[in-house]
Formats: sequence, structure tokens, C-alpha cells
Amino acid sequence: MKYKAIIGLEMHCEISETNSKVFSSAPNAYTDCPNSNIRPLDMGFPGTLPVVNKEAVRKALMASMILGCKQPEYMYFERKNYYYPDMPKNYQITQETKPAPVGIYGELKYECDGEIKVARINNIHLEEDAASQDHYSDFSTIDYNRAGVPLLELVTEPTFHSAKEAVSFLETMRSIYQYSGISEADSKKGQIRCDVNVSIMDEDLDESDPKNWGTKVEIKNVNSFGGVRDAINYEIARQIEAKEDGTYDQIEQQTRRWDEESGTTVYMRSKVDAIDYKYFIEPNIPKYKLNKNWLDEIRNSIPRLAPERKETYMNEYGLSNYDATILVKEKDVSDYYEETIKCGADAKLASNWITSVILGYLNKEFKTINEIYVTPLMLTELIDMVGKGTISSKQGKEVLFKCLDEEKDPKTIVEESGMKQIGSSDEILKVILEVLEEQPQGIEQYKAGKTNIVDFLVGQVMKKTRGQANPAMTRSMMIEEIEKR
Ligand code: ADP
Ligand code: MG
Repeated sequence: MKYKAIIGLEMHCEISETNSKVFSSAPNAYTDCPNSNIRPLDMGFPGTLPVVNKEAVRKALMASMILGCKQPEYMYFERKNYYYPDMPKNYQITQETKPAPVGIYGELKYECDGEIKVARINNIHLEEDAASQDHYSDFSTIDYNRAGVPLLELVTEPTFHSAKEAVSFLETMRSIYQYSGISEADSKKGQIRCDVNVSIMDEDLDESDPKNWGTKVEIKNVNSFGGVRDAINYEIARQIEAKEDGTYDQIEQQTRRWDEESGTTVYMRSKVDAIDYKYFIEPNIPKYKLNKNWLDEIRNSIPRLAPERKETYMNEYGLSNYDATILVKEKDVSDYYEETIKCGADAKLASNWITSVILGYLNKEFKTINEIYVTPLMLTELIDMVGKGTISSKQGKEVLFKCLDEEKDPKTIVEESGMKQIGSSDEILKVILEVLEEQPQGIEQYKAGKTNIVDFLVGQVMKKTRGQANPAMTRSMMIEEIEKR
């Protein structure tokens, strides 16, 4: 029998660049010092009260709008009650039951393998993150810096059918969060974490009827997209195997975790003994009506996202789909590119230099574009020097690599290395005349029809100038000079 995978994602992403946490005045910022960004509220001390961070709500609503979700008329929060050290209040303030969330029922177009697909969104809600724990063989540590950091949880419908689709969607979301300024969305900082829900069903059955879906298995807290991909593929294979060997009935609704080391999913708990969180409306945060003008303001302030920028690069700057795709992949690269154009560089040339030299360098050195010495202004100066013929484009490449390696600006490198291309016709003519004097047979051969002798003569000029003569200029002046005779 053939099977089809059904996959739903719960993507958690921390909101960044709010001055404080979502309900307390502690800074929403990273620090290496554990338990330093905390206030009494984050520790659940008696008598403390939450205050809603408006900027976090604004960003959450913006995400809701980008996803085409419906925003609520009233904003309110709910308590999810549970007992665990990562949440000292013994409840998490969240938005769980409809219509509380900042967004319900939306959809998002995303590209997978060159095809446009549509992911259906169930909801997106704003909540507080929990403290982070590290477990060692005989002790654990806990850091409350993360407790109370604003967190967006995006829940999709079971809308994906392969690991590839799920990961393409997550990459699209990360790009949206970064371009819109909602989050840095950096998995290395633990800002993105996903729960992955996987089931399989017989391929011939009607997918639109949930009765035909298989038993859902949830894999919790996968913290990289590579992990999401591997966990889905592993889980699909595990479930198909159970079908094939007749043990599928034993697959119950359960929660598993992804074990990076063994590359397997591991049983955690059964859904049968799922905790009842006893949700109720958070009484310490009054319900308030969302102002229509404010919502309009948020909608109008949504920045240009990657697809829009890509369109500009192709339609206005004449870049290929391939180059435009590369430039918008990371927001920082796209910003760098746009800044270079603002400094006066030609859009196509800037794209060439960035995609061929700078991105290659970043890959090789494991650096980000913000970490390199060369600024958009320096790159513009370099492009300008090549354009004016001060240096050849081959030399330009050399200069750029030197700038990156030696952390010096292009002008200094060119001056120090005496690399300047001879672009003045007087200087070039002097050397051409010298060469023709020394190689009179060259003129005869040319006149006799062996015109490719020009290559040799130009070569002689390049030799005498140690490669500094502008080759195109030398060539045309050489022909002109011979034909005069
Ligand atoms: P729960 O109540 O167990 O949290 P939900 O219905 O809220 O389950 O769904 C949680 C996630 O599981 C959503 O992302 C949803 O798309 C996904 N999901 C639901 N049913 C299935 C299924 N049969 N197979 C795969 N994913 C599913
Ligand atoms: Mg949640």
C-alpha cells in the first residue's frame, strides 16, 4: 500500500528588539550572564503584576496580518496552569482558546522546489517564553533570563506532505520575521523552536476528511531546521514500518522528542495522560478593544519583504531570478546590497561583486556580511575604480580579497601595491611606439593579413607595463597605430 504523510507545525519564535519582556520590565536582551535579566515578576514573587508590552503586541499583530489571519476585536490573555521550574508563577500567560489569539485562520504562500504552495495557518498567538534549562549527568541548571521573553507561537493546519515542504515553509517564515523586524529569528540563539506533528494515511483515501488521517505523533522542541527535516523523515519511516509489519495499532497519540545524536525520535509521554491546563482568562490583564487606527497604522508599516525586494531587483535592476534569489535569501545581505546602490554603485555590477566575491568569502570564512571590514561605500569605491579603468576587473577581484583579508580600504590597497592601471593614452602610446620600434616585423605580418599578431604586440605592452596598461585601450590604439603606417 502507498502512504501519504500529513504534517502540521507549531513554530515558536522569540520577538526581538522590544525594550523589555512581554509582561515585565526586565530587558529583552541576550547576555552571557545567567539570571541577570530578571525582575520579581519573572520569578513569580507574590504581589507582582504583569504589564503588557505594547511593542510586542504590535509585532505580534503585524505577524498576524502578514499571515493573512483575522485579528481579534478584543485583546486578552489566558492562563495555562502547570507546575514546572521553568515557570515559577506556575502558569504561563498565553492565548490558547479561540478567539483570543492575535491571529486566526490565515494562509501563506511559500516556494518549494520552484513551485508555489499555500500553507494553511490555524492561528498565531503571543505568549511568554519559559526559563531555559540545561541537564547534566547529576545536576541541572536553570537560567531565568529567557522567562518572560515575548514568544510567538504559529500553529499550522496539517498542511504539509513532506519534510521538504515543512522546511521550505519554516525558511519562508524565518525570512518574514527577519525582514519585518519582528525577530532576528536566529536558531543559534535558540530563538526558533518547533514542534512537529506527523501522521501517515493511505494514499487513496480522501485527505479532506480528518477521519482518514492516521494517528498523530508530536515531536517536541526541535531546534534546527535540519532537525525538523530529519525528525519528519525518521517518523514517516517509523510509522510506515509499523503499518507494514502490522504493529500500527500500537502507535498511540504520543509526544516524542528528537534525539540529535542517535538521529531518532524517542518516546516521552502518551497523549492519553495529557495534562489538563485549566485555561481561564488572565485576570490581571484587563481585556481591551483593539483600536482600528492603530491596526491600520501597523498594516501600513509592514516593511518590504523578500519577495517584494526580489521583484524590484529583477524588474527594475535587471538581475536574473538566480541572482535576485541569492541576494534576498538573508536580509543582512539584501540590506548591504541596497546600501551599496544607495552609495551610487550600478545595481548589476554591485550584484556581481557581492554574489561572486563577497558571498564566496563569507562561505569560506564562516562569517556574516555584518562582520566583514568592507563597507558598502568601500565596495562602491572599488566598483568605481574598475569602471574608470584605474584598475582592471581582474585586479579589482584581487583588491577586494585583500581588503577583506587585510582589513584595509580599496584605495589604500591600490596605492600600496602600485596596482594602478595605466589608463592615460599618452602613457600607453609611448609604450606602443617602443614595442613597434622593437618589432617591425609585427607591422609587416599584420599588413600581410596575419592580424592576430596584434595579440602578441599587446602582450609585449602588457609585459613592459607589468600588466598595468588597460588591455582594451591598448588593443584599439595598437591597431590604429599599425594601420596608420
Ligand atoms: P493538540 O490538541 O494535540 O495540540 P491540535 O489539533 O491543536 O492538537 O494540533 C496541533 C498540531 O498538530 C497542529 O499543527 C496540527 O496541524 C497538527 N495535526 C493535527 N492532526 C494531525 C494529524 N493527523 N497529522 C499530523 N498533524 C496533525
Ligand atoms: Mg503554546
